[in-house]
Amino acid sequence: RENSNVHRAAHALAARSTDAFEAAREKVRRFLNAPSDETIVWVRGTTEAINLVACSWGRRNVGEGDEVVVTNLEHHSNIVPWQMLCSEVGAKLRAAPVDDRGDVLLDEYEKLLNPRTRIVAFTHVSNALGTVTPVRDMVEMAHRHGARVLVDGAQAVSHMPVDVQALDADFYVFSGHKVFGPTGVGALYGKMTELEAMPPWQGGGSMIRDVTFERSIFQDPPEKFEAGTGTIADAVGLGAAIDYVEQIGMANIAAYEHGLLNYALEGLRTVPGLTLVGSPRERAGAISFVLDEWRVEDVGVALSREGIAVRAGHHCAQPILRRFGHETTVRPSFALYNTPEDVDALIAALHRLSAERGKRGL
Ligand code: PLP
Repeated sequence: RENSNVHRAAHALAARSTDAFEAAREKVRRFLNAPSDETIVWVRGTTEAINLVACSWGRRNVGEGDEVVVTNLEHHSNIVPWQMLCSEVGAKLRAAPVDDRGDVLLDEYEKLLNPRTRIVAFTHVSNALGTVTPVRDMVEMAHRHGARVLVDGAQAVSHMPVDVQALDADFYVFSGHKVFGPTGVGALYGKMTELEAMPPWQGGGSMIRDVTFERSIFQDPPEKFEAGTGTIADAVGLGAAIDYVEQIGMANIAAYEHGLLNYALEGLRTVPGLTLVGSPRERAGAISFVLDEWRVEDVGVALSREGIAVRAGHHCAQPILRRFGHETTVRPSFALYNTPEDVDALIAALHRLSAERGKRGL
């Protein structure tokens, strides 16, 4: 009913479409407690947001001999764009290690920070182990060394309240589908001082104020980073998803899931032959495990037959799984729609699989 491009026409459909698109931006702003709508840039998702910062901020601010710091916990999307930037400009990518629980070793992290560190990029919540990182402390340490910070919020936004101003992150990124919205849309929050100083990363319509053959004058943020027609309906859909979780309350969701995760951990510890991978001090969303004598993929298929959906594989986070000596794990992840009965069904199914050990000839 409101299918029209935004910002471009005087007709009623265009006005309604623009209003819906910009109202969704305001919902993202409120969701992250960002200071203004202009600090919220629409992107395809977390991956694109990180690539935007690596290409735009990175090419301008990271040079030969500089350093970019990530952690051992990162999703590939928070490693590869930085690796590409570093190889292009002659900088070095360094990774802060984790301890045997899967928590970032803060003293080792701090040792990596030095005047050559230009930016630190790390996850708020690990998608492989569920580790919640001490974002505020890590941001503070990076800032003390003059580095900027990008926080990958993909796994945090559906599990806990996020306040980018309290965290003092320079950039915070997430994907719509991680918070029950559509795929192919997400948001980049950036401090206005950073966004203003950054060059556009893609050129085209919507991001310009004036074009001649000799030069173009760009819009201010966020339009400067939104070349071409965006995924308007999906942005509005993400706004609806945010309304949905906010109606329940992110603090209520966090408290509910905390109880559910502890219940699941208790249950998993009763399964003979099951080894939990990582035991972080603070956890959200995900639990990784392996089961003796069972291939990870076979566990995934067997659980699927019982109507239980888990991830089985490397979770796009090979470095952290290898840190624990695995190539792949089984990873149930819990969200607000899961119940203790779901957990009971998972544990009962795993007990049945565990009982088959010794008969499988693996
Ligand atoms: N970062 C983390 C921690 C993730 O869990 C994911 C997706 O699983 C991503 C980044 C990449 O998100 P997307 O594929 O939506 O860009």
